[in-house]
This record gives sequence, C-alpha cells and structure tokens, in this order.
Amino acid sequence: MNRLFAASAAILLACELINAQTFPPGYVDPLPLLAAASKEIGEANLRCITFSGAGYDGAVGQTAEYNQNIDWPRIDALANYTRTINWETGTSKETFDRKPGLNPASWKYGLGWRGGTPVQKQTRQTHIVNGSHAWHIDGEGSEPAAVPPEDAERYQLDLWLNPPGFLKAARLPGANPKAIWRWEQIEMGRDGNVVAAEKMHVVSITVLGKYRVEATINPQNQIQRIKTTVSEPALGDFNIEHESTEQMPFGSVKWPIVWHSHQGWDDNYQFDNASTGHNAYGGKFPNVQPNVCDDPVPVPEAVRSAAAPSSAVTIETMAAGVYRLGGTTHNSYMVEFRDFVAVFEAPLNEARSLAVIEEIVKLAPGKPIRWLITSHPHFDHIGGLRTYLHIGSTIVTHRKAIDFLNRDVLNYRARTINPDIVALWPPTELSEGYNFEAINENYVITDNSRILRVYYVQPLAHVAGMLMAYLPAERIAFEADLFDTHEAPPPSPTPAMRSFFNQARRMKLDIATIGPVHGPTVPWSTFLNAMGAR
Ligand SMILES: [Zn+2]
Ligand SMILES: [Zn+2]
Repeated sequence: MNRLFAASAAILLACELINAQTFPPGYVDPLPLLAAASKEIGEANLRCITFSGAGYDGAVGQTAEYNQNIDWPRIDALANYTRTINWETGTSKETFDRKPGLNPASWKYGLGWRGGTPVQKQTRQTHIVNGSHAWHIDGEGSEPAAVPPEDAERYQLDLWLNPPGFLKAARLPGANPKAIWRWEQIEMGRDGNVVAAEKMHVVSITVLGKYRVEATINPQNQIQRIKTTVSEPALGDFNIEHESTEQMPFGSVKWPIVWHSHQGWDDNYQFDNASTGHNAYGGKFPNVQPNVCDDPVPVPEAVRSAAAPSSAVTIETMAAGVYRLGGTTHNSYMVEFRDFVAVFEAPLNEARSLAVIEEIVKLAPGKPIRWLITSHPHFDHIGGLRTYLHIGSTIVTHRKAIDFLNRDVLNYRARTINPDIVALWPPTELSEGYNFEAINENYVITDNSRILRVYYVQPLAHVAGMLMAYLPAERIAFEADLFDTHEAPPPSPTPAMRSFFNQARRMKLDIATIGPVHGPTVPWSTFLNAMGAR
C-alpha cells in the first residue's frame, strides 16, 4: 500500500511539474533554447565587438523598376568597412569609404534614402548611434549631423539584430520571450546548404518596448536569422532580417563573418506584393576582435540639441492659383482649377500630406483635390500618397508603376506598427470608385480654361515610368529628381538632366520656370547654365 501510495504521489508530482511547464500547442519553452544558443557562441564572454572587411549598400525603395524579384540597387561598395557594436553602452559606430556625389550623406544603407538632403561630399563616412540619438559625419573632421528620429530608432534597434545582441535583449525587462518550432527545408526561409529538412526553433522577443524580433535557431543551437517588422510610410509594416552565416570561433566566442540583410520580403512569388526587395546590406567581415571597442562615443551637443525636422508648410505663389507647398526636403505643387484642385507629388509620409492638404483647403476652400499626380514610386516620393486616396483623389501615375502602387501601397492592409488613416478607416467604398489613372504617354487635366499637361519622361535610368507636368500658359514645369536645386548643380550634367532637357525639346515645351520637388523654384536659365555652354 505504502509503495503504491508513494508511486502515486511521485506520478502526481511529476504531472504537476509537467503542468507548470506546459505551453499551448505549437509553443515551447524559450529559456532552454536561449541558454543553449548563448552557450554555443560564448555570449556571456562578449560585451562588445569590432569587425571589419568589405560590404555593399542597397538603396531600399529606389529601384528603377517595381517588378518582382529585383534587388535593391547597389549605389557603391562600402570599402574599408569597420563596425563596433557595444551592447553595454548601447552604441554602434560604422566607418567606411564610398564614392562622393552618389547618394544623400545621411543615408548609410537600406531604408532612409531621402532626396533633397545634402549629397555625400567626402569619401570617408561615419555613422554612429548612441541610445536614441544617431548622427553621421561626412569626411574625417567634419561636423556631425543628426539623422532623423525614425532612422535613429532603426539604428538603435539594429544593435540587437545579431546573435549575441538578441540573446542579451532577451534578458532585458519586457522582452517576454516566446518560442515555437517548425521544419525548414532546402532554402525555404533561410540560407545555408540544407540537404534534409531540419527542425528549427524560433524565439520572439520585444525590443525597445515596441518591436517584435524573432531569431531562428538551428539544431546546432546557432542563431541563423533574425527578423523584425518596422514601419515604412509607403508600404506600412515592413520586413527587416539579418542572415548571419559562417559563424567562426574567435577565442572563447563565435561570431558570423558573413552577413546580409534583407529589407522587404525576401520573397519572389508567394505574397501578393509587386515589390519584394532583397539585399539592403551585406558583405564579408573576416577581421573580428571580441571585446575590443572604443570608449562609448558621447552624443555631440549639436546632435543632442538638433531641432526636430520642421513640419511647417511654406507657400510660394508662382502664378494665380499655382503654389509651391514647401518647407521640407520635398515640395508638392498645387494647381487650382474652376471646380477642383490638382496636386503634383505626395512625398514623405502621412503627416506631411495632412499638413499640405490643410493648406490646400485654405487656399481653395470647398474645392475637392480631384487629382494627385505622382512622379515616380521611389519611397520618399510616395510616402504620403495614401492620404490622397483617403480624401478621394484620383492618383495619376504611369502605367509601369500602377501594379506596384495598387498592390503594395494603395491597399487596405492592416498596419500594426504605425497605423495610418487608410489602415484605421479603410475607405472601402472608394474601391468601387475612380482610384487611379494609369497613363501611357501624356494626359491632360483641364476645366476648359486652365490646362495642365502630364508627360511620361523617357529614357531615364533613374526610374521607369517617370511623370512630369507642365502648365503651357504659365510656362511652368513640375519635375522630380530630374534637376534638383537644393544644392549647387553637379559639375557636369547628369543623365537625368539630359533626359529633362531632351524631353523639353521633344515636346517643344517653352519652360520659363522649373518647379522641382527637391529645392526652390528656378528660372529655366539656371537649368541651361547647369547643362553647360553646349
Ligand atoms: Zn527624389
Ligand atoms: Zn527618385
């Protein structure tokens, strides 16, 4: 009897222990997985790391064509690349060499390309994040310049998107780790030469109190992929993932010497997206120094006290009923007709569109914004497009851009990180309406008195399906990225400038004033001077 009783008690106790560790179907205990992954790479011995080699940058949202399976354009290599990540101090410093004149100085790689900002002038580039502040330095000894807050937050998030960083973040308060398992086969979902299906575990944690970050852990207890979702104004919820391969021993720790980072879904055929961008950054960084790091870089006073980018809209009257709505890196232009308004360009984000629309409503009370002409689908030029869809505008775009805009941008999909007006109040009745006009060669918006012509600009390496607009009576041309005036013109004409020049000649446009999206309005003579004497 006693033996039976003892046995029953033992079974009861065992059941209770099992119950205490029971997880819902599909879920498993994350703690042993994290502990094994930590042991595998010697994470406890690592407080910071410096690694160097050669990388590449991909410009997310700046492709020439928005079709499936096209990689983000590589502007240049990141030569002499060195990065120090210090998890104790929450800092990261990247330095590299890159050709001047090709990209905004504030952009390092991936998301964050912003036209209308200073162009990179020196070779040596430095990008630093310290807590919630981030800045860049264009050339040794140059003044540090703050990067916008949304970029700074992504840089901060990126500190934890590597194997030791993830394991350290999983122990922070509020991380709330959860784990699941799945079988992965061949190249489905991760890199590596997988010959048979492998049982993988995925641990998710919350980072910065906001971002859900997942790590895929292989049967060797190595973290192979870390992914998260951020908010991107044009596309909404936006996938970012780092793949780390060739995890090599350096003393008592292991660190991956080959990296690449996908931004956007790394997917060619399964999702209903036209844009499935791939590599945003990567390279081989074989020189690894565990626990070698500079003293933490203090936040420069100029960065700490940098004012938030202005959201004020400035208004310049170019002709009766024709206005430039400026005040930031990207302009919009408003043309007032008898019964309606047309707008050229909806850049940046929803906040910008709402501020611009507020001014349009004051300038032309009671007139609907009937048309929104979008020049081209580079992300910094379309981040505010959905706002116009919401207020009932018809989006005028080129035929080559409509598939991408319809599927990826002008949709009612949920946005979990930063829901906008369209996501929160999806105007389903508009889906039965007249949402877009996809044009081929040219298009006319008129009330039979004022005329606004819209033209397809070709040929153009910058992007396929570029539109410009022209008011023949006022002799005003609106254009994006063909001729920027926010800085002195380049020493010799760019291909985009030549395209603009040829376009004006071919269409016999008698332009007096150029209204660029980037920079102030200028007379045509300014452009001719920049084209050179010939
Ligand atoms: Zn631009
Ligand atoms: Zn562009």
